[in-house]
Amino acid sequence: MKLETKCIQAGYEPKNGESRMIPIIQSTTFKYDTSEDMGKLFDLEASGYFYTRLQNPTNDLVAAKLCALEGGTAAMLTSSGQAANFFAVFNIAQNGDHVVASSAIYGGTFNLFNVTMRKMGIEFTFVSPDCTEEELEAAFRPNTKCVFGESIANPALTVLDFEKFAKAAHAHGVPLIVDNTFPTPINCRPIEFGVDIVTHSTTKYLDGHDVGVGGAIIDSGNFDWMAHADKFPGLCTPDESYHGITYAEKFGQGGAFITKCTAQLMRDFGSIQSPQNAFYLNLGIESLAVRMERHCANAQKVAEFLQQHENVAWVTYPGLPGDKYYELAQKYMPNGTCGVISFGVKGGRSAAEDFMKKLKVGMIATHVADAHTCVLHPASSTHRQLTDEELIAAGVGPDLIRLSVGIENVDDIIEDLEQALKG
Ligand SMILES: *Cc1c(COP(=O)(O)O)cnc(C)c1O
Repeated sequence: MKLETKCIQAGYEPKNGESRMIPIIQSTTFKYDTSEDMGKLFDLEASGYFYTRLQNPTNDLVAAKLCALEGGTAAMLTSSGQAANFFAVFNIAQNGDHVVASSAIYGGTFNLFNVTMRKMGIEFTFVSPDCTEEELEAAFRPNTKCVFGESIANPALTVLDFEKFAKAAHAHGVPLIVDNTFPTPINCRPIEFGVDIVTHSTTKYLDGHDVGVGGAIIDSGNFDWMAHADKFPGLCTPDESYHGITYAEKFGQGGAFITKCTAQLMRDFGSIQSPQNAFYLNLGIESLAVRMERHCANAQKVAEFLQQHENVAWVTYPGLPGDKYYELAQKYMPNGTCGVISFGVKGGRSAAEDFMKKLKVGMIATHVADAHTCVLHPASSTHRQLTDEELIAAGVGPDLIRLSVGIENVDDIIEDLEQALKG
């Protein structure tokens, strides 16, 4: 199946007489005939459901669709993008370990890593996505367990050079984890370029309509844990909380990561997506291919409009020829990038705030990447916990406006920007 078809059909094949739409299994618990049957599930001897804190059939159908779209071997949904990124890293890094991460990442993820996960004893070294191979090399330590980046960074709009980061990660025997929220699998499939694990905030384009917070993790199945068994004891040595199962042996290269993440982290943290939200997510994904095409076409026209406007200081959009990341975008996502543009209004911070107040079609919202056009000033909102130096390192200057171009008629969007930029 092609991507557009997978958006509609992958993950769920109704049998004769079954519902055409995925069923919402709104049940916390599942019934068994014998204790022995249930025991097999607890021992991971059989697959099935016993408690929705760990797994739910509706969620798994939607995860299977995302798995097909990204070209992975196993996938799971989480309650949020934050939970997805936390799980993806914490599944292989623990107290005493170290992670190399791009400095151009979502503010919430930066905080998760730099504050909360540090408190758990995991060290992070942040590198510029534009670093040289030597600089990247220098960031690794003997206890490094993974490398993390965003395919298109929110809101810096830097494009990650997958091949450069994958080469370095693999040379050190660790996987590359990439948050692919902004381009979505419609525009970019990081696994094709050597990325091992893909994460998403499904809250953004995948949902697409501002209705449900959620996240997802997809494993490529390409990383050979057993070949680096000394680095990944959690996957390659027996789990005493599951009667001595060794995940990488029992579930193989394609299944070990997601099974461990479900059996241990979802069991202990319970960051599950509700089946109702998974249903909404699936509904969003059905129209994803059509929506992404429109988001990109609209954003391209808006970026070109802003670029020639006398009151606009600068525009960043990886789809614009001449943009710093245009070539990387052409290489890794030739059909389009995303609908998000960042730009600066002449006159700095206060002019930016005045401009935003005048908008009528574009709404001020912390949200991004959905059907509605919306704007945000990160320095005074989402990124306000960062110092000026950290803001600049994250690629988010104090005058930056993030404009998420929706799927309204582009003439209305441009007319609105035009009147707000006057004066
Ligand atoms: C929004 C976002 C997140 C966090 O996701 P939530 O669903 O809000 O928890 C992570 N990464 C990126 C790139 C995001 O845009």
